[in-house]
Amino acid sequence: MVKGEESLALSEIKAGWLGWGRRGTAGAAIPMALGFEGVTQRFGSVTALSDVSLSVEPGEIVALLGQSGCGKTTLLRLAAGVERPSGGRVLLEGRDVSAPDRFVEPEHRGVGFVFQDYALFPHLTVGENVRFGLRDQSAATAEATALRALARVGLADFYGGYPHMLSGGEQQRVALARAIAPRPGVLLMDEPFSNLDRRLRDVVRDETAALLEETGATSIIVTHDPEDAMRIADRIVLMRAGQIAQIGTGEELYRRPASLFAARFFCDFTEVEGRVAGGAIDTPLGRFAAPGMPEGSDAIACIRPHRVRIVPKGYYLPARLIARRFLGEVDHLQIAVEGFERVLSVRAPLSDEIAVGDEVGVEIPSDEVLVFPAADQ
Ligand code: ATP
Repeated sequence: MVKGEESLALSEIKAGWLGWGRRGTAGAAIPMALGFEGVTQRFGSVTALSDVSLSVEPGEIVALLGQSGCGKTTLLRLAAGVERPSGGRVLLEGRDVSAPDRFVEPEHRGVGFVFQDYALFPHLTVGENVRFGLRDQSAATAEATALRALARVGLADFYGGYPHMLSGGEQQRVALARAIAPRPGVLLMDEPFSNLDRRLRDVVRDETAALLEETGATSIIVTHDPEDAMRIADRIVLMRAGQIAQIGTGEELYRRPASLFAARFFCDFTEVEGRVAGGAIDTPLGRFAAPGMPEGSDAIACIRPHRVRIVPKGYYLPARLIARRFLGEVDHLQIAVEGFERVLSVRAPLSDEIAVGDEVGVEIPSDEVLVFPAADQ
């Protein structure tokens, strides 16, 4: 689902049941521009980041998306200042904060950080944890600020409690309250939803998105889940092996992936190989355009499971239904297509009149199929 599509009123009601505070009560920050210029990061023989450049506009919410080990956390740590780059520059409001002679320490960057494991201090109370970043405020002001931040995440009553008394979801909210309390111009979050169960995750994700918009802070969220990224971010930065593979909105990356890698990240396709001849590839599943690809080169066509249509026997490609699994709104179908030695995966509602073993027809709209060079993998 695309960001903001779910009824906000409904999600706010659900959030209220689960104990979040009233929307619109988080203090606003002055957002800062954040930039990376040709950033490289090496750890011994490992190159975690290689020549990464990225500009994040003030107030923008960016998701860093990618598989484990691709360098997402490293980029976040460089922005926070807990790591120094091996090469390149980190810029805050256009100012280099990473140069060895002008390095700005994390506590002076105006950057909030929510760590993957929340990193709450176990020996401090919830209130003390949130006040930790407010040491430049008077005791009374810090307490009021911490209480307001905790109230926004619905946990003001836990002010004097200890982290071990809280569930994982509640600890995540304390970590969020701690990060927003000093009103940072940049908020960095490392896999903030990965430890939460499915039901909680949806609410926490929606509430976090609302909170980020309220604070107005420039935000970077690390995730390996494309749905998290699409729901929360204005722009997605897809990373691969220490480099940026593609940048765009969720819709751009989903509809117009620049590579097979990017395409596979957003969809479980059925893939079929072919050789380019006359600007297209001929495959057992149809002929698909391969614009701009060299004649005679190997290519892979990617077919989205929910774009395939099952039609009566005798129309389009001859096929047989070999498995059907009920998924609620749609069925997950496995189809054997004549001449195609693998299984075609389909997500579609299916009439109850069609049973496993029946012959059917399969229509694959060719303009919905993506074709990439096979060498792209
Ligand atoms: P994950 O989703 O698993 O957290 P990630 O995309 O955030 O992965 P990073 O944690 O940035 O990836 O790590 C990128 C690469 O750098 C990995 O190969 C990792 O092992 C390596 N790396 C990161 N930090 C260090 C370090 N302090 N010392 C040595 N190697 C490191």
